[in-house]
Amino acid sequence: TEPLKVAIVGSGNWGSAIAKIVGHNVLKSDDFATEVKMYVYEEMVDGRKLTEIINTEHENIKYLKGHKLPENVVAVPDARDACREADILIFVLPHQFVRRICSNLQGHIKPTAVAISLIKGFDVHDKGLELISNVVRTMLSIDCAVLMGANIASEVAGENYCEATIGCKKPDFGKLLKKLFQTDYFRIVVVEDEITVELCGALKNVTATGAGFVDGLGYGDNTKAAVIRLGLMEMVKFCEEFYPGSKMSTFLESCGVADLVTTCYGGRNRRVAEAFVKTGKSIPELEKEMLNGQSLQGPPTAAEINIMLKAKNMEDRFPLFTAIHRICIRELEPQKFIDCLKNHPEHM
Ligand code: NAD
Ligand code: 13P
Ligand code: CA
Repeated sequence: TEPLKVAIVGSGNWGSAIAKIVGHNVLKSDDFATEVKMYVYEEMVDGRKLTEIINTEHENIKYLKGHKLPENVVAVPDARDACREADILIFVLPHQFVRRICSNLQGHIKPTAVAISLIKGFDVHDKGLELISNVVRTMLSIDCAVLMGANIASEVAGENYCEATIGCKKPDFGKLLKKLFQTDYFRIVVVEDEITVELCGALKNVTATGAGFVDGLGYGDNTKAAVIRLGLMEMVKFCEEFYPGSKMSTFLESCGVADLVTTCYGGRNRRVAEAFVKTGKSIPELEKEMLNGQSLQGPPTAAEINIMLKAKNMEDRFPLFTAIHRICIRELEPQKFIDCLKNHPEHM
C-alpha cells in the first residue's frame, strides 16, 4: 500500500512544535510519506514571506524561534494546496479560524482522508456550542480524532519529557496516530473517550485564566491550588451536564489534570491574566503587546461557555467559569474573584 501523506493545518507556536515531531516521525516509518506539507497563514516577517523563511531556514522564526524544523516539512501558503493529496490532516490553529479554513477546504480534500484536532476551544453557533472536532467532521465529512495534553509548545520543542492523550474511538486509527506522534520524549496514551479529552483541553484554559487572576492579585500557591481544584470540579460537572458519559479516568490522563496544572503555572493564558489584573489593560491590548501574534484561548472560551450557561440559566452552578468571564469583560472587579472562591457551592 502507498505510504500515507500527512498535512498540518496551522503553523503557530504549537503547530510548529508538532511539525518538528511529525516531520521526524514520518521518516522513521514506512506507513507515512516523507514530505509533510504545512499550511502557513502567510505574513511578512522582517520584510520576507514567512513561508519562504521556513522553507529556506527551516525555522518558524516568528512563532517558534530557536527550534529547527525537519527539512521534509514544507510550508505552503494555500490551504487547499497543502491538503489536496493528504490522507491524514492535523488541525492545529487557534479555534477562531477553524470554520473559515474548513469552508475553504470543502470539496478540495480526499474523501477518504481522516483528521486529528489539536485545537483547544469551542465553536459557537446559534444553536449553542459545538466541539471543534465536530466542526471538522461535519464540514468536511471525515472522521476526526483529538490530541490534547500538558504540552507547552516551547518545552515540547526543547524535547523535555512530557505526555499527551489521543482520544480516538477506532483502535486501528488510534494506533496509527500514536505512531505518527509518539517519540521517546513525547509519550502518548490512546483512550476511546474522545469527547472528554477534547472538553478537558478547551475548559482548562478558562481555569488557567482564573489562576492568572489570583497571581495578579498577589495570592500564593495555596490559593492557586484552590482555583485548580474548583476549576477541575466545574470541568467535571460541565462534562456531566452537557456531554454525559465521561469516564472519570480520562480526567487523570495528561489531557485532564496534567494539562490543567501546567497551564495554570506556565501557560500564556495565566501570564496574560496576571498582567490584566496588574496593569488594568484590556485582554486584546495585552494579547497584542505580550504574544507577538500568538492567540489566547481562555478568555474567548470563557465567553463561549457563558453563552450556553446563560441560555440554560445555569450561571450560578458554574460560579468560577462565570466569574472568570465577567472579569475578562470588566463586568466584575478582579478582587471579587476571591469572594467567588469563598462562596463556591463546594463549601456550602
Ligand atoms: P498561536 O497561538 O501561535 O497562533 C498564531 C497562529 O495563528 C499563527 O500561525 C498565525 O499565522 C495564525 N493565524 C493568524 N491569523 C490567522 C487567520 N486569519 N487564519 C488562519 N491562521 C491565522 O497558535 P498555536 O499555539 O499553534 O495554537 C493552536 C491551537 O493549539 C490552540 O487551540 C491552542 O490552544 C492549542 N495548543 C497550544 C499550545 C501552546 O503551547 N502554544 C499547546 C497545546 C495546544
Ligand atoms: P496556553 O495557551 O495558556 O499557553 O496553554 C498552552 C497549552 O495548551 C499547554 O498544554
Ligand atoms: Ca516514511
